[in-house]
Amino acid sequence: VLDLTYAFGPETIYWPTATPFARKDTSHGKTEAGFYYAAGDYAASEHGGTHLDAPVHFFEKGAGADGISPSRLVGPTWILDAREACAKDPDHLVARADVAGEIPENVIVLVLTGWGRYWPDKKSYLGDDRPGKTDALSFPGLDPELARELVKRKVRAVGIDTASIDRGKSTKFEAHRVLAEAGVPIFENVANLDGVPADSWIVAAPMKIEGGTGGPLRLLALAPRPGPRTYEMGDAAAKRVIDWAPSECEIELSGKQMKVAVAATFAYGPRAAELEAALSRALFRAQFDDVAWKAPRWPAPSRR
Ligand SMILES: [Zn+2]
Repeated sequence: VLDLTYAFGPETIYWPTATPFARKDTSHGKTEAGFYYAAGDYAASEHGGTHLDAPVHFFEKGAGADGISPSRLVGPTWILDAREACAKDPDHLVARADVAGEIPENVIVLVLTGWGRYWPDKKSYLGDDRPGKTDALSFPGLDPELARELVKRKVRAVGIDTASIDRGKSTKFEAHRVLAEAGVPIFENVANLDGVPADSWIVAAPMKIEGGTGGPLRLLALAPRPGPRTYEMGDAAAKRVIDWAPSECEIELSGKQMKVAVAATFAYGPRAAELEAALSRALFRAQFDDVAWKAPRWPAPSRR
């Protein structure tokens, strides 16, 4: 499990016009009854740190933070790596030309610009660190045309490792509007995006604020289940694995090398754990069957 969330504290970057995060202790220390007790108050804008933009942020009839379907908040991820183009131009619009191949359907798109490396330095992350000023911001964002295409691909949500899905120079916030009108939640200031393995699943858990236009977001990536593993085994054992392994597994034989894995389609299904277990069992028994029944039990029976 990877944490794609920045901690909320005094250094956390908020939109220049937004109220930053604040927290204070209301209790801290030994109570009169003799035990330790701590509690605090916090306050902040809905739009800062790793956070959600609910559709109502840019679309009047859109869902608030409490109205987003949970099925939009969990799903397989698709990472749009545009680091190269963004490194050349800090005002780059991540567009269709940055995408190799087809865009999958029903995924959570994470736009990787590489801007996470500047966090938490406001000047380099936002392009400008003057409080309240937004006229000289500079960082990459998503091209509204590509946003439209993502909507057509029925993406569940879109995240980015910058302060806004629209680039810093944007004045019309078109990518926000396209996604908001289509009911697509947006995740901004996504942390550690360069470390997310391609086939990860994303779990987004924003604070469920009634009518909220967004809010603090805990974003997690579940790295893929064990991928293909390679074993060395003889023909007889290989034949047994093929006979005994569940049919939802992929088995590749080349010479004495056998590559096995639960097929990707099933790797996250409800039977995933069961299939992994059945595959392990087949592998173990196929390789050690003859030996296992003949060998003494472990620990070896005592001869005393
Ligand atoms: Zn926002």
